[in-house]
Amino acid sequence: MDLEKLRAAAGNVLSRDDIGYLIGWGVGSYGFRTAPLFLRDAGEVHRLTFSPLCGSNLAVFLTMEYDVAAPAKGAAAKERIAVMVKGCDSRAVVQQIVERGVDRERLFLVGCPCEGVVDPGKVEKKFPGTVEPVRAGWENGAVVFWTGGQKVTLPGEEVLSAGCLDCSHPNPVLADIMPCEEVKLRRLAAREDVSMFEQKSSADRWLYWKRIFNTCIRCYACRNACPLCYCSDCLLERLSPAWLFRSVNLSENAAFHLARAFHLAGRCVECGACERACPVEVPLMLLNRKLAREVYERYGFQPGLDPDSPPFQAAFRPDDSEEFIL
Ligand code: SF4
Ligand code: SF4
Ligand code: SF4
Repeated sequence: MDLEKLRAAAGNVLSRDDIGYLIGWGVGSYGFRTAPLFLRDAGEVHRLTFSPLCGSNLAVFLTMEYDVAAPAKGAAAKERIAVMVKGCDSRAVVQQIVERGVDRERLFLVGCPCEGVVDPGKVEKKFPGTVEPVRAGWENGAVVFWTGGQKVTLPGEEVLSAGCLDCSHPNPVLADIMPCEEVKLRRLAAREDVSMFEQKSSADRWLYWKRIFNTCIRCYACRNACPLCYCSDCLLERLSPAWLFRSVNLSENAAFHLARAFHLAGRCVECGACERACPVEVPLMLLNRKLAREVYERYGFQPGLDPDSPPFQAAFRPDDSEEFIL
């Protein structure tokens, strides 16, 4: 990844008359974190970064812009928002377009081919107590860190998020420009967590989730980090009617996670941003991947690949499996 090339391209984007601002990643002020950066001035592009530390999915900010959803017919054209997207981020944008959560015409996508982002839990265990901002990069398939005046190289398998080890779309599926070269598809490890989990008895599965759901502190960081969890009035936070009580206990936590997983079935693009945001390492991707697998095996559908496809829940094919209808 040639960062200077990416910054130069971002500068050109910001110089265009039709672009309002650009959302990218900036160097963070703490440990292995980067921070979202909103730029209006082409002279500020030196503040942009792109590295294995850019785990947040910036598509999450698009649906927060109050008027970026599909406009009424005949409405005046407004400025476009530029956003840097990895492969999985671009799938989230495609899914937002499909759902008319954002208007394609209002977006300008800067594609960032990606070799994987770190799992904060894994790196914080490798480098405990690191507070000063760390720099990182990709080098010959490995991940390098510059910390405490030293350069440390680690294999991807040891530090990358599980989903990145066999990412199916490391290159953006939709982009207006792609300043850097595409990366090759690679498989560092096969993910078998869902298959292995399915082999357990239902009693053991419930025991596992009981233990996990009990650790959740219901901070909602997972929901807030998710680009496809964007209802402005979240059903799970409503007071009247209250579908869920505020108490943090097994029953309310389980209801929160199951409702969220089902609301994302056929919509989740498996970017892993929710899991990386979790302060107590709840393995949210196990739930998300299970639902994604069900949707694919039953309906052959994968979200976030085709902006012209109908939303999964609104699509019906005469040959769809209907064995669940009583
Ligand atoms: S899932 Fe793919 S595109 Fe997304 S961060 Fe991981 S490697 Fe990059
Ligand atoms: S799973 Fe993690 S991020 Fe989500 S609400 Fe629970 S503690 Fe917060
Ligand atoms: S549920 Fe998690 S993995 Fe799925 S789209 Fe949302 S943040 Fe990404």
